[in-house]
Amino acid sequence: MSGDYSLTDEQKMVRDTVRRMAQEKIAPLAAEIDDTGVFPSVIREQFKELGLFGLAFPEAYGGSEMGILSSALVLEEIGRICSSSAIICAAPITTGLLILEYGSDQQKKSFIPGIVSGNTTTAVALFETDAGSDPERIATYAEKAGDRYVINGKKGLVDLADEAGLIIVFARTKNSGKPQDISAFIIEKDLTPWSIERTVEKMGTTAIHACELVFEGCAIPQKNRMGEEGGGQIIAARARGLNCILAAARGLGIAQGALDYALNYTKERVQFGRPISSFQGIQFMLADMAALVETGRYLLYKACAEVDRGQAEGYYFGAMAKCFISDAAMKVATDAIQLLGGYGYMKDHPVERMMRDAKLIQLVEGTNYTQHIFLAEGLLGL
Ligand SMILES: Cc1cc2nc3c(=O)[nH]c(=O)nc-3n(C[C@H](O)[C@H](O)[C@H](O)COP(=O)(O)OP(=O)(O)OC[C@H]3O[C@@H](n4cnc5c(N)ncnc54)[C@H](O)[C@@H]3O)c2cc1C
Repeated sequence: MSGDYSLTDEQKMVRDTVRRMAQEKIAPLAAEIDDTGVFPSVIREQFKELGLFGLAFPEAYGGSEMGILSSALVLEEIGRICSSSAIICAAPITTGLLILEYGSDQQKKSFIPGIVSGNTTTAVALFETDAGSDPERIATYAEKAGDRYVINGKKGLVDLADEAGLIIVFARTKNSGKPQDISAFIIEKDLTPWSIERTVEKMGTTAIHACELVFEGCAIPQKNRMGEEGGGQIIAARARGLNCILAAARGLGIAQGALDYALNYTKERVQFGRPISSFQGIQFMLADMAALVETGRYLLYKACAEVDRGQAEGYYFGAMAKCFISDAAMKVATDAIQLLGGYGYMKDHPVERMMRDAKLIQLVEGTNYTQHIFLAEGLLGL
């Protein structure tokens, strides 16, 4: 396995462009986005203008064919400034890449261009209140009726379902108790709208609404099944694999953002007649934080580079990166608050928001504990 994950000039250019854009356009709005829970359309327009939704997609669909590593670089840069914005940018990437890998030619033609252009907002609905870490327990059922499936059931905590034009929904097509009971479906809002039972309030990334959904007699054409009937588990695993990489990139951004902020603060804050950065205790904390950020970065870029080379084990390293980086982001953001002292706890500074947003990444795409089951299975060959 090659360990080569150095960035191309093109990738560096994308990273630097997005870094500038995030500083200029997103940073002034980040606190307000968190306070109001409202995402400004002007930021989405920026993402569209820069072609950020399409970086990982083939040119044939309007993308720029630069791989998942380029998307990770973008999410890292946006995540440094505003985690809600990074989720807006990430969500369609997973959906589009799933359709690219598992969809029919017709599904690819119908859905991917809208995703790449940023005109179609999407969501993925796997989780159910009684089926969290163990998605094999999902109860949502898709009953075959002629050339259609009729879907009934509920999904919990689906990001962006209130805005989405299409949702990939995982539902049971059999009750045999085998993994092959689950299939994946593409549901288009215009054709078969779903209803939202509740939007759940949360502690961070407030502009991304986590919705509880209801599908009641939701009839969709058979052509909207993605992949084979019974192939849903494999697609769900890939969704988690992709999401782990994108979530890790967001987490890396949070960790870097918190480190940058704390570093500057310690250089400026004077106590006992000198900047607090001159105290060795502070220096050691900063050094530990930087080591966590840099280690996470290498792991994530390695995972992305493997995926871009078509190596399935990239997803294994992606899961590892998501666990390592989310824990690192939580620690770095908490330490950043510590370094700011009492003011770190206040909303005057972004580090308390970063800590709240970092916590989420330890919980999603399979909590870090349940991702450890997957990592251990890989190690032990189970
Ligand atoms: C803000 C937010 C947005 C989300 N967005 C989406 C979305 O868009 N689409 C979607 O499908 N889902 C989404 N989710 C759901 C998310 O994927 C689940 O919350 C996650 O998979 C965990 O499931 P759970 O909350 O039911 O936890 P549980 O499964 O109830 O776990 C509870 C605790 O038990 C631990 N645990 C469980 N099993 C084991 C085990 N075998 N060994 C050791 N420990 C274990 C877990 O680590 C956790 O600490 C979202 C969640 C959040 C919080």
